Amino acid sequence: MKSNIGAFHKRVSVLKRKMRDSGLDGMIVSDRANVFYLSGFSSSNSMVLFTGKQTLFLTDFRYIEKASQMVTHLEVMQVGQGLLTETVKILKKAAPGRIGFEPNLTYQGFQTLAKGLGVKRFVPSSGILSTLRAVKDEDEISLIATNQKLNQRIWRKAIEATKAGESELSIRRRIRIALDEEDAEEAFGTIVATGPNSSLPHAEPGTRKLRRGDYLLIDMGVRKAHYHSDMTRTVGWGTTSARHAEIYNIVLEAQKKALAMIKPGVPAREVDAIARNFISEAGYGEAFQHGLGHGVGLEIHEGPTLNARSNDILAEGHVVTVEPGIYIPGFGGVRIEDLVVVTKDGYRNLTSAPKTYRDV
Ligand code: ZN
Ligand code: ZN
Repeated sequence: MKSNIGAFHKRVSVLKRKMRDSGLDGMIVSDRANVFYLSGFSSSNSMVLFTGKQTLFLTDFRYIEKASQMVTHLEVMQVGQGLLTETVKILKKAAPGRIGFEPNLTYQGFQTLAKGLGVKRFVPSSGILSTLRAVKDEDEISLIATNQKLNQRIWRKAIEATKAGESELSIRRRIRIALDEEDAEEAFGTIVATGPNSSLPHAEPGTRKLRRGDYLLIDMGVRKAHYHSDMTRTVGWGTTSARHAEIYNIVLEAQKKALAMIKPGVPAREVDAIARNFISEAGYGEAFQHGLGHGVGLEIHEGPTLNARSNDILAEGHVVTVEPGIYIPGFGGVRIEDLVVVTKDGYRNLTSAPKTYRDV
């Protein structure tokens, strides 16, 4: 990622404003993705600490040299490896009133803070950064779009190179090699599921070999330059039955209906509902148990959430998946997943891999 300190600086300013709105004087940002989001620096041991007076980037001797060069918009401070112990010392001096902390803090970590500063001043502040991160800027969208293009290219090559009788593990291996050749990583454990195995939404690839008449479901994502992408395609292998095509087309129609609803101001749960109702009316309500979609960014699953319980409202700059499915034990499953960005008056699909049902 090209270093764009301006974007990181802006995020820090926006967060400070949100902290004031929430009545927070200080904040301990310890979640790795959040630390990167604010600083542009990723390591196994860094924090961004808002003391009310200063905004500090804390890290230990292993990372200090690189951090000092890269994080020019924050006060970089070298501390010992126990970041929370150091945080207590710093906060004791600065003495902010209410201090936000994040949910990734361990119980032990929280005890360290509470013992040093008193439990009462700490406030969970998980929602602030996740709400900010859900809305992507142009640079983020372009990184995610590039990753989705690469994702599609690798998927297409994997399909083209697949041979009859090849195992799920072997197909996945080819995908992993292709990712490595592109200096990219898996965004999550790639799912390659054949035949009846595709009825497990989170199938682990195994030794089952691809047979004529199978669904071949591949759910994969690229992680590169800190950002992720996500796509699922299901195709028929050899000649599949009319039932295979029929179920596929119900999922595709459900996805089209959901996509057509996407624009700013729409409750995420309504987008979930339109796909879910369509699948239910087709008689497969029981066969679609997972949520419709999720945000994608610095993490593969982040806000907003598209499911029946979500209170999120779609906004311009959200990047979300739309991935309905039908899973029939013993027969197989279909999932079709696109990644889209919410625009001013609708959405732009970052996914262009074909969706018409076909046997390959
Ligand atoms: Zn996926
Ligand atoms: Zn997904």
